[in-house]
Amino acid sequence: MIRCLACALALVALPAAAQQAAPLPPLAPWSGASEKLIVAAGDPWITPAEQSGFAETPDYAATRAWLDRLVGSAPQLLSIERFGATAEGRELYFVRASKGGAGKPVLLVQAGIHSGEIDGKDAGMMLLRDIAHRGKHRLLDRADLVFVPIFNADGHERSGPWNRPNQRGPQSMGWRTTAQNLNLNRDYLKADAPEMQAMLALINRIDPALYLDLHVTDGTDHQYDVAYAFAGWRGFYANSPAIGRWLDTKLRPSMDAALTRAGHTPGLYVSALDNRDPGKGIRHDPDTPRFSTGYGDFRRLPTVLVETHSLKPYRQRVLGTYVLVEEALRLAGQEGAALRAAIDADRAARPRAMVVNWKPRTDPLYTIEFKGIAHDRYRSAASGRDEIRWLGRPVTQKMPVFGSDPDQRVTPPPWLAVTTAPQVIER
Ligand SMILES: [Zn+2]
Repeated sequence: MIRCLACALALVALPAAAQQAAPLPPLAPWSGASEKLIVAAGDPWITPAEQSGFAETPDYAATRAWLDRLVGSAPQLLSIERFGATAEGRELYFVRASKGGAGKPVLLVQAGIHSGEIDGKDAGMMLLRDIAHRGKHRLLDRADLVFVPIFNADGHERSGPWNRPNQRGPQSMGWRTTAQNLNLNRDYLKADAPEMQAMLALINRIDPALYLDLHVTDGTDHQYDVAYAFAGWRGFYANSPAIGRWLDTKLRPSMDAALTRAGHTPGLYVSALDNRDPGKGIRHDPDTPRFSTGYGDFRRLPTVLVETHSLKPYRQRVLGTYVLVEEALRLAGQEGAALRAAIDADRAARPRAMVVNWKPRTDPLYTIEFKGIAHDRYRSAASGRDEIRWLGRPVTQKMPVFGSDPDQRVTPPPWLAVTTAPQVIER
């Protein structure tokens, strides 16, 4: 409610667009080769996001209508399948892109687990279009794609302009949690939500070779527009060591090269030690199994968390996500055998001890050349204390990266530790 009449009148006098715009930090101009992925106005297969100049993202019904039309136009490559329902009864579905043939590695791409972070949906729609109609079908020669456009579908429909005010688009954004107020990216292990139960059943059924969980991050400003993370980054924290090694030595260099070629700035997902003092360092911690990456690591499923940066424009973020998903599909095909061998090795392994709790380290794990953004501080009349003001100017700085040490370990029962064959337990 606005208590001041003059303020209310001033707001009314503002054009609607200015009322909608949160005061965000200055923006560096961007261009990149990935802009060529956008089709021309008038193209019969332009996506709703492209049609709006990446100002908007389609709602649940419009997304499904567009995908139904696309799938109908290329039934030899694309199909839609239901895999569950939300708490409010919306259908959960995926698009499968496949040339048929058994035994190909499956890339599972999941968009909208936090539905305000919906870049992956609009990127995936463009990629499916390009597979069906613009010559990218060769990506399916050696791999299948299973694409979930909207995982948190109920949250996606609780859409509004202020759900993520520190994010540059789309104009209306979905809600973080489900209709039951559950955060799906904390629900992998306990699986309270019907949406998560459906996703875990889908994972069990299709046994993906690689799993992408697509998000958008906020917090501090920095130059990285497409950040990502997995267990095993720089050799740290992998419970699935062979998978971690594959992700770190094969996926990471290929992904960084593909994103850089396309004009993007990839990096490790940035979580500041202190958002009020970003120079102190960033965190590189293990993810526990309530998160996608932690869960994937525990169950021997190669899982990558992707976090585009909320202060970059929606157009740039969707394009970066497209490049990452396309490269993951190419890699899943090219590396299918190596990936399978890594998964099998980790599944056959019987570790004698498992870390179940971690404690923060006081000294840095390592130091990186961090691609940051300059900032200063000012005394805020609103909060009554010093706040950060991002200045938009790129700076490179040495940044310590802090992590964790094992705190608690458990020893699995001996029958689990010594055998590689499934056990029959006599009762
Ligand atoms: Zn998220």
